[in-house]
Amino acid sequence: MSELRSAIEGLRSEVLAELPDAWIEEDFAELQRAAELLEVERLRRLAEIDRRATFQRDGHLSAASWLASTFKVAWGTAREQVRIAKALEDMPETRRALDEGDLSMSAVRVLVAARDADRDAFQGSESALVDAARIHSMQDLQRVAAYWRQAVEREHALDSDDKVRAQRRLHASVTFLGMVRVDGHLDPETGETLLTALSAVLDAESRSRDEDDNRTPAQRRADALGEICRQWLDLADRPSVGGEKPHVTVTMSVDALRGDGGAAELDHVGPVGSETARRLACDASIRRVVMAGPSEPLDVGRQTPVIPSGMRRAVIIRDRHCRFPGCDRPHTWCNPHHIVHWAQGGPTAAQNLLLLCRRHHTMIHERRFRLDLLDGRPVFRRHDGSVLEDRAPP
Ligand SMILES: [Zn+2]
Ligand SMILES: [Zn+2]
Repeated sequence: MSELRSAIEGLRSEVLAELPDAWIEEDFAELQRAAELLEVERLRRLAEIDRRATFQRDGHLSAASWLASTFKVAWGTAREQVRIAKALEDMPETRRALDEGDLSMSAVRVLVAARDADRDAFQGSESALVDAARIHSMQDLQRVAAYWRQAVEREHALDSDDKVRAQRRLHASVTFLGMVRVDGHLDPETGETLLTALSAVLDAESRSRDEDDNRTPAQRRADALGEICRQWLDLADRPSVGGEKPHVTVTMSVDALRGDGGAAELDHVGPVGSETARRLACDASIRRVVMAGPSEPLDVGRQTPVIPSGMRRAVIIRDRHCRFPGCDRPHTWCNPHHIVHWAQGGPTAAQNLLLLCRRHHTMIHERRFRLDLLDGRPVFRRHDGSVLEDRAPP
């Protein structure tokens, strides 16, 4: 290594301005070649460091993080270098061509990307691809690699629709603050179904879009997925699970129900705000549980719907769609809302019930708008008390 350093010192002491053109060009070519060879040797050691996992000594979780923090290399670059270093271990033809000085590192990057696309296929095609790299410009090599990938993919599509389908998966897990992270791969048919359903919901929504809807497209898709699942749960002929139709379950104290604070919890994601819980309770089946202590149920009552099905039907026939001014989302998107919450003594009677779509129901419960009865007619008000005109009275 010290020889290398003294060779570099020798180069540094040369005064370039005095050298003839041909000499400079020759020097450059040799340095270019030496730099590539040095890079290969650097990567070979990086792969060895990765294999020995010496980076763990300082608590680094990967060779890339060690490289990034020790040598102040950008994260993306560090990851790519480790990836190339490891890939080269497995690419004998490529290494040989590199040693012979027939490949540039740029070409190697293209070959590594091709290998990442399909390792098995790459093994069979490595020498042909390396030959292409020897003769083609970078641009042409990229085209050759793209064609190769297409051909491989076509072959795969023919022999293995099943292999593609086998990769389908869906993960949904509760994360920080009760948020649920969803990620996965859907097979083409299921994916198409999802996209069709999402765009149908988004379409229906955009027809009655309110001006102050400032959700991002991603937020709209998230809401749409919720709507699809809710409507499925609301269907009459759902299969029952454990003797009950599947439903969203919220457990809350009487205090929380009355709006006096207190805890509320959803079955899967844990604690929720009491206003969310009160909104869910607006149109739910309830079951009273009397507790003897913090964890000892004394008496469990029968599950009864807050709004009997006959009354629900009457409200749906009367309102037909969301009653928020200007909104015409159909009743399948709506829940009957208690203008005075039943937990505060509001009667479950047609004149205290109003059909609201999920979004407007949330807005009312979050008190972004106020809803009162005035001579038996619902009146929606903004924060400043001004009345929202109902452009389409039922
Ligand atoms: Zn409500
Ligand atoms: Zn609405």
